[in-house]
Amino acid sequence: MGPDPNFLIPPDLIQALDRSRHAVVMTGSGTSAESGIPTFRNAQTGLWAKYRPEDLATPEAFERDPQLVWEWYAWRRELVGAAEPNPGHIAIAELNDLLPHLTLITQNVDGLHQRAGSPRVIEFHGNLMRSRCTAGHPADEIDKIDNTGETPPRCRQCGAMLRPDVVWFGEAIPAVALATALKAVEDCDILLAIGTSAVVQPAAGLAMQAKQHGALLVEVNPEPTPLTRDVDFVLTGSSGRIMPELVNALRSRQDHA
Ligand code: NAD
Repeated sequence: MGPDPNFLIPPDLIQALDRSRHAVVMTGSGTSAESGIPTFRNAQTGLWAKYRPEDLATPEAFERDPQLVWEWYAWRRELVGAAEPNPGHIAIAELNDLLPHLTLITQNVDGLHQRAGSPRVIEFHGNLMRSRCTAGHPADEIDKIDNTGETPPRCRQCGAMLRPDVVWFGEAIPAVALATALKAVEDCDILLAIGTSAVVQPAAGLAMQAKQHGALLVEVNPEPTPLTRDVDFVLTGSSGRIMPELVNALRSRQDHA
């Protein structure tokens, strides 16, 4: 789909971005929808259609049936492995060249921002391409774990089960990611919430915290969210369409400055 000739990024927004000292981009699973990765709110497919993600991405589910949960993550890893960053991921990475200071906080666990070239991504919910030991040994890349034929595989240091290095519902956000994200939202002058339903806390609260500290809020989403009524700019549509337009508009303003 080419650019929509009727869609215009508000000039006031481009001006605000151009003047920004510190921008925060916060993304959710909608950012990866155009790479073919289902969001949690979309139906699951095939074998997995009968499960709700909320019933699989929990510590209780893993305790009850570690094999089922590990296999679900193996399926999701396959989807991610076959996917490519989309124009939205690429545009977000390109923003780094146009803004003096950009902090990217993602709730996604797919690593597509990094693959699109975004540096220093704050992974709020971990990464499904890593696993970690249930007894506390550090995370390892998934392709480096020993394959002993067991599901889930075992930690090579202590023999305990491995689990995906992601944050499940009810678990705490990694301390460093949380502290860095809080510092960024308190310092930023503009925050863009892209492809997030803004219902999963504490990620959803970050945008309001930025607003309380004086930042402008921008939302990029085809659907309204609980955040919509509080934002300064609502850009209704997909991130793969809107973000490249926004980057082009900012680039052409800077080229003509
Ligand atoms: P969500 O599933 O709750 O909401 C997705 C949001 O994206 C919705 O508001 C939807 O309208 C919007 N959306 C759909 N297509 C879009 C598009 N093309 N462009 C822009 N927006 C679009 O996702 P969430 O807010 O990220 O929260 C759910 C949790 O699910 C997160 O914690 C995340 O860790 C996890 N999750 C991650 C992935 C991934 O890593 N790709 C996938 C599924 C779920």
